[in-house]
Amino acid sequence: MSIDVYNPATEEVIGSVPESADVGPAVAAARAALGPWSALSRGERAAHLAALRDLLAAHADELAALITAEMGAPLAVARKVQVGLPIAVLSSMVDLLGADEPEERIGNSLVVRDPVGVVAAITPWNYPLHQTVAKLAPALAAGNTVVHKPSEVAPLSALRLLDLVREAGLPEGVYNLVTGYGDPTGAALAGHPGVDLVSFTGSTGAGRTVAALAATNLTRVSLELGGKSANVVLPDADLAAAVKVGVGNCYLNSGQTCTAWTRLLVHESQHDEVVALAVAAASRYTVGDPTDPATRLGPLASAAQRDRVLSYISRGLADGAKLAHGNGSVPDVGYYVAPVVFADVDPASAIAQEEIFGPVLSIIRYRDEDDAVRIANSTPYGLAGSVWSGSQEHALAVARRMRTGQVDVNGGSFNPLAPFGGIGDSGYGRELGVHGYEEFTSVKAIQL
Ligand code: NAD
Repeated sequence: MSIDVYNPATEEVIGSVPESADVGPAVAAARAALGPWSALSRGERAAHLAALRDLLAAHADELAALITAEMGAPLAVARKVQVGLPIAVLSSMVDLLGADEPEERIGNSLVVRDPVGVVAAITPWNYPLHQTVAKLAPALAAGNTVVHKPSEVAPLSALRLLDLVREAGLPEGVYNLVTGYGDPTGAALAGHPGVDLVSFTGSTGAGRTVAALAATNLTRVSLELGGKSANVVLPDADLAAAVKVGVGNCYLNSGQTCTAWTRLLVHESQHDEVVALAVAAASRYTVGDPTDPATRLGPLASAAQRDRVLSYISRGLADGAKLAHGNGSVPDVGYYVAPVVFADVDPASAIAQEEIFGPVLSIIRYRDEDDAVRIANSTPYGLAGSVWSGSQEHALAVARRMRTGQVDVNGGSFNPLAPFGGIGDSGYGRELGVHGYEEFTSVKAIQL
């Protein structure tokens, strides 16, 4: 059995991958490689990761084109984010390994960190290479070996990564790839007794299933799940900047970003002004062929995702939200959705509570600051967020009240060394930087 992979811009089949129901050989290969790999020095593991980083950099344009073909991100986004970030993440782990292992002393105890063992990495399609490397780099840095199951929607970049891992000279068995659907392949991996840690990125529903499957073996789990993040614009903020950056954040990768600020919270007195700014910003998003440099919004990654987003747009209209911008024309072929701005959105409605994962912005009114914080914290998710104010100190105070894993103040930029992850239905565990590295370690106390 094999699974066809579609180019979402052309609807053509561009490749296929085998459906592997038996993950046993990959887990066994990872187990066999674990001893020798974890016995390498930090410097030796750093050299391997640096070699892989350099190969990714040398093949960046080719990888970006492949990711654009398999999931539809515009080439500039693919090059800068989809490929740029994994290179930065590999570099961060090379740097981390360059320093001596930190020694923690507690009284007569020396606290050290061991690798966890065999890591199962299960990843989605929206940033396929980044989400893989965000697990692979720290897992390998800490001395673990990995079995990876990429999304069946966009698995081609993982196949290419496997080639590059081999070309970089990493030992056989440290990175193993299995392809297939979530069920049975992903489920078999999550429930495999030979796996010591499941690191999962994907939807909240699949995350729950993965955690339940892993629980039968008491396997450790970290979950990076969905989001419904709030962009809180306080009345004294620079409205033009807040809305411009906010719309850009919401529409990045056609809205298929787990951290997207999909809810724009504005003071009721500024609602109409903000709607006008958002509509003006949204109308500058050219939709079309993701290989065309003029394109800012490519297609959604699959027909299923397009249909899901369209059904949420209908749901928003049915629930009484005002369509301030939308229904723009899109190419006949390809899984496109024109960008949408909904105004006057009820914060309890489906489009304000559920992850849509498409270019749909919901503008919500608040009465005062407490109301803004209450609305921001009113979804089951807690992944990202943003606060804008003329006073950084004031914005920081509001940021501290937000129940979420990350908050950007006045457009503070993404930091690939900062802990990344969520709370509630956004999951648990952290990726990136030293926190991401520690996620792949087990703490041991040695009494002296
Ligand atoms: P998905 O949950 O459908 O699939 C993710 C991965 O899990 C895929 O590899 C899939 O095959 C696998 N899978 C599905 N069901 C499974 C099961 N029962 N057992 C084991 N594996 C299973 O998600 P998706 O549609 O590929 O990606 C979009 C979702 O991912 C969104 O909800 C998005 O918010 C989330 N996401 C989260 C983050 C984050 O870091 N928090 C990042 C990106 C995407």
